Amino acid sequence: MTLYNDSETHRQKHADHKYIMTLGSHCSLQVLKGAKDEGFQTLLICEEKRVSLYKRFKFIDKLIVINNFKEILNHDFQKNLIDLYNPVMIPHGTLISSLSVDDIEKIKIPIFGNKWILRWESDRVLKQRLMIESSIGTPKQISSKNDIDGLCIVKLNGAAGGKGYFLVSDKKGFEAQSQKLIESNVIVSEDQLFIQKYANGVPVYLQFFYSPIENELELLGIDRRYETDIDALGRIPAGFQISSNFEPSYTVVGNIPIVLRESLLPEVYSMGEKFVDAAGRLVPPGMPGPFCIEGVYDNSANFIAFEFSARIVAGTNLYVSGSPYSDLIYDVPMSMGRRIALEIKKAINLSKLGLVLT
Ligand code: AMP
Repeated sequence: MTLYNDSETHRQKHADHKYIMTLGSHCSLQVLKGAKDEGFQTLLICEEKRVSLYKRFKFIDKLIVINNFKEILNHDFQKNLIDLYNPVMIPHGTLISSLSVDDIEKIKIPIFGNKWILRWESDRVLKQRLMIESSIGTPKQISSKNDIDGLCIVKLNGAAGGKGYFLVSDKKGFEAQSQKLIESNVIVSEDQLFIQKYANGVPVYLQFFYSPIENELELLGIDRRYETDIDALGRIPAGFQISSNFEPSYTVVGNIPIVLRESLLPEVYSMGEKFVDAAGRLVPPGMPGPFCIEGVYDNSANFIAFEFSARIVAGTNLYVSGSPYSDLIYDVPMSMGRRIALEIKKAINLSKLGLVLT
């Protein structure tokens, strides 16, 4: 059936998207609340174990229960969803951590944003390329454990919310820590690890939205993550940190709002614009929709970006009622979820869905 072989044809035929859907996790509440506020119907794909949570929220119109998110890859499942609801799917971190990028690229349900750029987010080599193409200051990548000289952070692939990251300052430490990950079946070999110079400073996550319809970049919020147990370190006196052999982990449990000094904002916008331009050159159709540049400000207030997310981040959950930045642009409470829905609405009205869906 052509519907499933040619998503462009499908998009033209069914430009009357009434449903916005997402997976029940990460930022789904905010996304669907925002969709509802913009007049869409909402559909949540929910794993059995979370039904009792999501049933509490009246703005969810349809709740489809499955055992495992991987089931959305099933051809008939997608066909039924399209036939019944013709939804637009909003990708988020749980989609990326639950499915492989190969699988995501094969999804036939129209996805908001550029689904091809999700590969660039998940693959460390591609990610580094896009960061460098953006000319945003980034910590040096260490290509061999033999070159570790000074404090480095070692990362796993994919969006696992900082889980499994560790710090090292020499080759011996790297080998000892990676051996632990191999023994606990987290990785198969050291080659799966990515070593980056540790950037000393305070973490700041810049939440942007780029509208290809308006050709406009918006800064909609700023946050930092609350990470256990690195953020617990300061609660233990230095002597105990040393005597207990404290090995910090970076597992995210929440987010904390931030407003920046206003004098830092010109550079923030400039970084966002450079990122959008670089994405347009390397991964057409570029960076429509939400994205986040993640890094630290050092003691000279220089921003060093260690990551990006090429889709909505969970830190935007802080701003369901708008943020200090969205309030400067919009007269209604504009969450990132609502901003996405607004863009879809504009695209439908102007027959420009091709600019925002892949
Ligand atoms: P990520 O999931 O890559 O955003 O990183 C998780 C956490 O690791 C961040 O919030 C930071 O606390 C820390 N982090 C990641 N990369 C670096 C780096 N190069 N320098 C310092 N801290 C980092």
